[in-house]
Amino acid sequence: MGRVNRFICPSCKMTWQIQLGHGFRHARLENVLDAFPADIQEKILADTKGEAFPSFEFQYKAAICPKCRQVLSVPVIHLHQSGNTYAPACPDCGISVQIKEEEETLICPVCGESPLFSEDAGRWD
Ligand SMILES: [Zn+2]
Ligand SMILES: [Zn+2]
Repeated sequence: MGRVNRFICPSCKMTWQIQLGHGFRHARLENVLDAFPADIQEKILADTKGEAFPSFEFQYKAAICPKCRQVLSVPVIHLHQSGNTYAPACPDCGISVQIKEEEETLICPVCGESPLFSEDAGRWD
């Protein structure tokens, strides 16, 4: 079950609400593939070729696009056999996004003044 997080900037009051984690359907690789653009789908399929039950970790993570100045959720997959991790670029402008790791705090991409607060805003799937 995924979670919904709200990110709030205490300085400029900008808020974003995004879906994180993974849904029930993402236990299957073919459903996970749908989350990625065609070029990454090809890499995933090449990496898992020959595996009857590909072993992977998948989740939506919070990220920042410094160009669009937005907080967004991006699908991230880690493939155990190849050791590769894939995540798509910003869907709006195509540059690499900065993905938030567990312990990291995001700085507001709009004003650049404050770390964003993160609060629980529910569940999805
Ligand atoms: Zn962008
Ligand atoms: Zn701000």
